[in-house]
Amino acid sequence: MILKVIIFAIVGLLIYKFFGGQLPSFKKSASQKKLDDDTLVECAKCGTYVTVKESDLIQGNYYCSKECRP
Ligand SMILES: [Zn+2]
Repeated sequence: MILKVIIFAIVGLLIYKFFGGQLPSFKKSASQKKLDDDTLVECAKCGTYVTVKESDLIQGNYYCSKECRP
């Protein structure tokens, strides 16, 4: 049982070395989620569509105005 864990550790280490000491990136690309300023987004509260630059992005949700902010 312990041997199994050690083998897994060694295999894991080899994979780690294989990637040049860097783990493959699973991070979501920030640029992928970035929208243009003129892209319309829906207000999370009232459903009004506003442009990204006019909206407020709070915790991943867009809000059209101060009144709609949580
Ligand atoms: Zn709103």
